[in-house]
Amino acid sequence: MKCPLCRGTGTQTLHGAAISMEEFIGPDWDDDMRDGYTSGLYDHACDHCGGSGETTSEGWDWYQVELQERAMGA
Ligand SMILES: [Zn+2]
Repeated sequence: MKCPLCRGTGTQTLHGAAISMEEFIGPDWDDDMRDGYTSGLYDHACDHCGGSGETTSEGWDWYQVELQERAMGA
């Protein structure tokens, strides 16, 4: 199956997910960072599939738990 974490691309961005436009234009980002982000500088191999973009369905319990914790604001 395709890796759900990177959606089969094998790469993750700096924050592991797409950042919001508010973050992107916010004070935490300067022009160099914005250039790097848009050019893929901060992409790195997916933590879950190691960059292959493929994974088994096993081992996803931790991720489901993490998503639930995030949803609860943990
Ligand atoms: Zn992946």
